Amino acid sequence: MPHAVTFDHVSRLFGQMRAVDNVSLTINEGEFFSMLGPSGSGKTTCLRLIAGFELPSSGRILIAGQDASALAPFERDVNTVFQDYALFPTMDVLNNVAYGLMVKGVGKKERLARAEEALSMVALADYGSRKPGELSGGQRQRVALARALVGRPRVLLLDEPLGALDLKLREQMQSELKNLQRKLGITFVFVTHDQSEALSMSDRVAVFAKGRIEQIATPQDLYDKPASRFVADFVGTSNVVDAPLAQSLTGQRRIFAIRPERIQLGCAGIVTAHAVRAKGVVRDIAFLGAVNRIEVELAGKAVLTALTPSFGGALPLIGSEVELAWRIDAMHWITEAA
Ligand code: ATP
Repeated sequence: MPHAVTFDHVSRLFGQMRAVDNVSLTINEGEFFSMLGPSGSGKTTCLRLIAGFELPSSGRILIAGQDASALAPFERDVNTVFQDYALFPTMDVLNNVAYGLMVKGVGKKERLARAEEALSMVALADYGSRKPGELSGGQRQRVALARALVGRPRVLLLDEPLGALDLKLREQMQSELKNLQRKLGITFVFVTHDQSEALSMSDRVAVFAKGRIEQIATPQDLYDKPASRFVADFVGTSNVVDAPLAQSLTGQRRIFAIRPERIQLGCAGIVTAHAVRAKGVVRDIAFLGAVNRIEVELAGKAVLTALTPSFGGALPLIGSEVELAWRIDAMHWITEAA
């Protein structure tokens, strides 16, 4: 089976600015694929390139194995859910959902039946006669989703679709979206700048920085084996430590990343032969609910952050000396150009 989407050395320039810079990637059929990165890193432009709202300055985009260069947006087997939903305010929900089918010339009976089916997929079967203004933010979001799904596109493009929702609703919609995607088997390409959202929903994630891809990996690998300092910093929280003694003669710099939850306070239960121990002074302690965040300054001025369970065990005092320990295999080494 061909890949759902392929970027083959794609660049998109706006004037001199490389919004997308030589990106190659493949998205599998039925995959939940996220594009994650800070503002301005080129994610939306990539989505627009798939949709056909932008054309590459160089390189090729393939959809289902076919070069999409000559295809207009409406000729591509893709659909987009926008952050602002873009619903027609004066049209009722059922007709909003059916609209795309009408444009395609599908007869009234069939399009309304399919719109009803799409509305029940997003648990809004009883809301067809309402106007968008009579719905909550989460319900509007579901209507936008139903409208994009009604034509059963091969690929659904979602541009920060949950950005306008409050945190609780956002988390609820995350699992609903993921479940729906699994059930329908449609390829989702999901753009977000929220790393926890990308980690929790995706089969694979592409991390973008400055128009380039830093890493493409499963959420677990992205978290455990970040390919660069940028990824280690951007995805979750990491301690990134320079290891001056490990500078190689080739002019490369060796750094290691270690997640705060892998660092423990004191050495209880740790086998010394498999562990690193370091002494330092507590600089700050914050109670975060399930865990405490403890900042410890080591002799060489490096500051390490540890997350320790907040139940049981007395906390050290700020300014006191403590010992930290972590397993050697919790350290992930990264080589970068010096
Ligand atoms: P955000 O999360 O803020 O939406 P993004 O990662 O999606 O950011 P893009 O919207 O793809 O980033 O933009 C990438 C870069 O390209 C930005 O510097 C942006 O200003 C620029 N850009 C995007 N569209 C255009 C355009 N039509 N004309 C000129 N510059 C553009």
